[in-house]
Amino acid sequence: MLSDSMQTSQAEQRCDVLLIGGGPAGSTAATLLAERGYGVTLLEKARHPRFHIGESLLPANLPLFEKLGIRAEVEAIGMPKWGAEFVSPWHEHSQTFEFADAWDKSMPHAYQVRRSEFDEILIRNAGRKGANVIEGCRVRDVEFLPNGEGAIVRADHDDGRSETWQCRFLIDASGRDTFLGNRFKAKHRNPKHNSSSLYAHFSGARRHEGKKEGHITIFWFEHGWFWFIPLADGITSVGAVIWPYHLKTRKKPVKGFFLDLIALCPALAERLRSAELVSDVEATGNFSYTCDRTHGTNWLLLGDAYAFIDPVFSSGVMLAMNSAFAGADAVDTCLRQPERAPQALKEFDQVMKHGPKEFSWFIYRVTNPTMRDLFMAPRNFFRVKEALLSVLAGDIFGKTPIWGSLRVFKAIYYVVSLANLKRTIMASKQRKLNIRYVEDSQESGYR
Ligand SMILES: Cc1cc2nc3c(=O)[nH]c(=O)nc-3n(C[C@H](O)[C@H](O)[C@H](O)COP(=O)(O)OP(=O)(O)OC[C@H]3O[C@@H](n4cnc5c(N)ncnc54)[C@H](O)[C@@H]3O)c2cc1C
Repeated sequence: MLSDSMQTSQAEQRCDVLLIGGGPAGSTAATLLAERGYGVTLLEKARHPRFHIGESLLPANLPLFEKLGIRAEVEAIGMPKWGAEFVSPWHEHSQTFEFADAWDKSMPHAYQVRRSEFDEILIRNAGRKGANVIEGCRVRDVEFLPNGEGAIVRADHDDGRSETWQCRFLIDASGRDTFLGNRFKAKHRNPKHNSSSLYAHFSGARRHEGKKEGHITIFWFEHGWFWFIPLADGITSVGAVIWPYHLKTRKKPVKGFFLDLIALCPALAERLRSAELVSDVEATGNFSYTCDRTHGTNWLLLGDAYAFIDPVFSSGVMLAMNSAFAGADAVDTCLRQPERAPQALKEFDQVMKHGPKEFSWFIYRVTNPTMRDLFMAPRNFFRVKEALLSVLAGDIFGKTPIWGSLRVFKAIYYVVSLANLKRTIMASKQRKLNIRYVEDSQESGYR
């Protein structure tokens, strides 16, 4: 059934595939489907370039850039990222990992990017490849037609006009706005994890020298962890990922609260000693969720529109783009060979669930003392360090045979946890308290 507003008028435009959202997921899928000859319309509520958080990419992004034909453009705006450094107040040394030491030696680096520039490269590429890209146009309403005939979508332009499209297939790539997830009440808070974040840009932060300049640094501290992401233009992105209940204790304006958090992490404060805050401080509330389905008849979800866990392994953009490659294949099969649609959507479903599942095991444990010890003193016993680095590089969808070694790593984790039973029980109790849900305050819903 169509809603009243849409029953009165026929759709003004038609297309094969309509995408909601022109972030990494939507722009990638639009490019791939336009290249295959489909009539593609991409509606993006903002106008690029626009700010977005999520600036640290993974080596596994690079083969995707190659396939999209944008590798040189990304290289031109990116800070080469050869590795990651972990700094723990509970250990006397810091630990650096280099992607060149991962199982597959052919993906030794990634990039740190300003998302305004990166996302613009992706969306302009979609336009060049033939997608009809419309910015400043927010999707407001969707009605699915009977008998699998697609959907009618209504959107508002930022000049006040409304327009409708009829599409054969609808892709929701609306990110953490989770357009269809909300519509279907399919979005659920992750009961196993919960975090919030505050972040800003600084100039004059002290960076490492040479090849290490572009390393991401993760600083653990008592309320969670910080990222330190050096961008190519000399600006450094700094963010705190903290337990939502701690954010709720905030009595000061966001900026003052953020600077107080930094002061609680002396190793980070030292690197920011001569730095100047050059942006507003932004905040996001409880942000771990999953939708209970990845697709339905004539629609599917990509990237953050399906799930978001936690940014500690910088996996979001890679998962979003990878989901777009899988989604484009599935949509192509659904439209060309409808009899094969159930199998194609099943395979898509598996890809969508694989990434969040593999990263989640580590994310749920990354602030646990046993995991911290393993990260801070890695050994390559049974190639476990190489396998771990492959996960950190995002190399989890290809044929790299890391799975046996990862099982060994997990077994070591459980044995060390058992050997330190008292500490493990205490940490588990503390984690339960840390991830407890708190009502979102005004921080929620920001980017
Ligand atoms: C604090 C924090 C730190 C992060 N750090 C990293 C990191 O270092 N590395 C990393 O890889 N990832 C990181 N991420 C995750 C990363 O930002 C996301 O996973 C990634 O942007 C997902 O891409 P997407 O295309 O699915 O969604 P988005 O990039 O969010 O794109 C969705 C697009 O849809 C548009 N849109 C929404 N609703 C509508 C509508 N109704 N109509 C039209 N358009 C609409 C939005 O304007 C947006 O442009 C971080 C996330 C957070 C919260």
